[in-house]
Amino acid sequence: MQRILVAGAGHGGLVAAAKLAKRGFDVTVIEKEARAALGHDWEDRFTFSLPETLLGIREADFPAGSWRVRGDCAFISPAKRKRVEIFYDETQAQRVMWRKPLIGLLLDAAEAAGVNFLFETPVLGPLLQGDRVTGLRTEAGEMEAALVIDAAGVFSPVRMGLPAACEIEQSPQRGDLFYAWRGYFNKIDGTMPRCPFEVSLYHEGEQGLSWCCTNPDSVDLLIGRIDPLTDEKVRVQIGNYKKDHPWIGDRLLHGGQYGRIPVRRPLTLLVADGYAAVGDSAFMTTPMNGMGIDLSMQAGALLAETVAANVGQPMTAEVLWEYNRRYHIEYGAAASKNAGLKNALLSLPSAGVDFLFEQSVIQAADLAGAGKNMQLGALLGKFVRGMKNPPWFFAVLRGLIKGGKAAGLYAAPPQAFDRAAIRAWDAKIRACDLKIAGPQA
Ligand SMILES: Cc1cc2nc3c(=O)[nH]c(=O)nc-3n(C[C@H](O)[C@H](O)[C@H](O)COP(=O)(O)OP(=O)(O)OC[C@H]3O[C@@H](n4cnc5c(N)ncnc54)[C@H](O)[C@@H]3O)c2cc1C
Repeated sequence: MQRILVAGAGHGGLVAAAKLAKRGFDVTVIEKEARAALGHDWEDRFTFSLPETLLGIREADFPAGSWRVRGDCAFISPAKRKRVEIFYDETQAQRVMWRKPLIGLLLDAAEAAGVNFLFETPVLGPLLQGDRVTGLRTEAGEMEAALVIDAAGVFSPVRMGLPAACEIEQSPQRGDLFYAWRGYFNKIDGTMPRCPFEVSLYHEGEQGLSWCCTNPDSVDLLIGRIDPLTDEKVRVQIGNYKKDHPWIGDRLLHGGQYGRIPVRRPLTLLVADGYAAVGDSAFMTTPMNGMGIDLSMQAGALLAETVAANVGQPMTAEVLWEYNRRYHIEYGAAASKNAGLKNALLSLPSAGVDFLFEQSVIQAADLAGAGKNMQLGALLGKFVRGMKNPPWFFAVLRGLIKGGKAAGLYAAPPQAFDRAAIRAWDAKIRACDLKIAGPQA
């Protein structure tokens, strides 16, 4: 059976690995970290039913104490004059899970399916024959394979080492990434705010978002910006949160680390001869909220279906294109629409975002759905209110229109892997100009 190498134990790579090993492929995951070091030291949100749908991992089998329900949420405007509160009912309550047990469940499922693992083995880049990927260069030597699945995250050395002839975008641009610091502090009293999860847009007037989530046993702080953070900035912002939330203690209980999240449209081209990207390595998140766990796992499952349907065939870009097409039709289009709104909001001055909050152009339903709830009636009301400041309102509308146009293109990729057709399709998507404007005063 054909040999498949997975670069990095990313979520999508593990789903694809488990599914393909079950189908009899010889699959090896090559991960730079030790097994015990995998998974962030914090809790994140994803669709709890997805591991069962994709891999048969039942919610009932999630380890005890590995997840909880996050409290109700308040979005706070940049000038802190307006709060939009969201009260979830039982069906909408946000459940979050510690990342180590989540990745542990995926690793266990992959191992049980017969996947081999090489931990503590950094991948250095793709192994190439001309423009074809024929394996991986690793610190343990060169390894050959019929297919390399790139699940090595946003700065994957595999994607960044591909030849220009593959025409796969290699490096993110300003505004494509969200830089975050996250840590959990002890609580020095029993305070529980009515909306314990407070999310600040344009926190302290800067492009980005931060949060302070008061849990019964700790306070989860996230400081996030579109530009790279410095230790000094994080220190100052933690200090600001402590001033407003005197129950935050000084003892760091979890995290205390930096992370980078792609918050842009996904790569248009996900495949090359012998190569397919999944998850953060292909920028597969919902741009407004940076959620990438579901999309990464869903991409892994789609890729496995395409590969398994072509057993014994050379894993050419032509064969892998079906995965590329399906991902964009099923998920990429919605993500690029969402990128239009995110970029428009981040291109406004912080006073513009305050205006949108204060005129109720931004409402609870928009924020709860990360910009996905766009009903006509609600939009008309927004239009009337938004016209009180046409330049800012039209800036947001332009972002929505650009996102919608890009979504239409993502939803209609070329039928077959035809280089000229793909180039023309990609050029049209680029022309939608899904970028954020430069730093704002
Ligand atoms: C602060 C923060 C909060 C987040 N919150 C959420 C959330 O609530 N919900 C959500 O859905 N998403 C969230 N995300 C995003 C989410 O983490 C990713 O989108 C998701 O993990 C999918 O990424 P991935 O599995 O493809 O890659 P990653 O999680 O980055 O995994 C890549 C793997 O590849 C390995 N690797 C990297 N380089 C090499 C190399 N050279 N050789 C070998 N191995 C390598 C890494 O060690 C890692 O194991 C958050 C991210 C951050 C930073």
